[in-house]
Amino acid sequence: SRLFNFCAGPAALPEVVLKRAQEEMLDWQGRGLSVMEMSHRSDEFVSIAEQAEADLRELLKIPANYKVLFMQGGASSQFAMVPLNLGGKGGSANYIYTGIWGKKAIAEGKRYLSSHLAASAEDNGLTAVPRQEAIQLSADATYLHYTSNETIGGLEFDYIPETSVPLVCDMSSDILSAPIDISRFGVIYAGAQKNIGPAGLTLVIVREDLLDQAKPEMPTMFSYKTFAENGSMYNTPPTFAWYLSGLVFDWLKKDIGGLDKMAEINQRKAQKLYAAIDDNDFYANPIAPINRSIMNVPFTLADSTLDKVFLQEAEKAGFLNLAGHRSVGGMRASIYNAVPEAAVDALIDFMTEFAKTRG
Ligand code: PLP
Repeated sequence: SRLFNFCAGPAALPEVVLKRAQEEMLDWQGRGLSVMEMSHRSDEFVSIAEQAEADLRELLKIPANYKVLFMQGGASSQFAMVPLNLGGKGGSANYIYTGIWGKKAIAEGKRYLSSHLAASAEDNGLTAVPRQEAIQLSADATYLHYTSNETIGGLEFDYIPETSVPLVCDMSSDILSAPIDISRFGVIYAGAQKNIGPAGLTLVIVREDLLDQAKPEMPTMFSYKTFAENGSMYNTPPTFAWYLSGLVFDWLKKDIGGLDKMAEINQRKAQKLYAAIDDNDFYANPIAPINRSIMNVPFTLADSTLDKVFLQEAEKAGFLNLAGHRSVGGMRASIYNAVPEAAVDALIDFMTEFAKTRG
């Protein structure tokens, strides 16, 4: 009865993870209660939390001098938490602008720190990521922020920017899609609801030497240091989301075989979907091939009056959430880790048939 879900977030979760959560829902490992009902200070929950962190560290090869924080408030809260946590000595937040989420980060950041646009994809209509040579830091740069994958535009960095200041990355929609060199970053953050787990949890990975640079008026609950010093349990954490994320990490390790394998599958899924779009005049995607997102594939129909029909027929055929973001329209297929390759194959068949009969 489960349909193919291409939602940008909250996104599809691996079926085996949901089944395991279902099996353990009423009685976690014979302890007679649900994870949802456990004290976050109990040995049981602490073991769940520690295992999740250990698995994440193994998957992403997170170096020992980085802290992993399980926070709340979504990636949107990080737009403010980053300048609050790193801006204690002033200076200016530098940004690379490649889309709507970056724009929101810039707008929010300006409230706490002066701001400088170090590079922008505006000139090319947000269809290609600025190259390294184009990045111009301000003399007083405190950090450089970018969005590795713009979820709405489907624009993904093909490289990690080189910079002399701490690099901050919003990795909400491509974290865990492929291996990444964590040591290149100062701060990485991500809302959980795409490749990590259910909404409600926000992951932050921060280099230890950056924990002492907060603004003095820093609210306790927004401080990375508070979370680092208290094992992310200064207050009651989102325990069930943390547990479920742990099951996703376990799935990535044991069922998929790690991030190299995951990346291989993701590349295959994305390549065939883009090929289906490129090979058919009825569909189009404007992004420079090197920056096409492997997670979010936006596309338009040659005849936009058919958009509604496309979505209706897709839904009837079992393909959910293919509408583009409300701000841009068109279509978007989000093909995160948990979207099976078979779902992409079935979508391609549907798109080919739709173009044949309606195009
Ligand atoms: N950044 C990116 C790249 C996103 O895709 C999203 C949400 O889709 C956000 C930030 C906002 O995340 P949240 O809803 O967790 O605040």
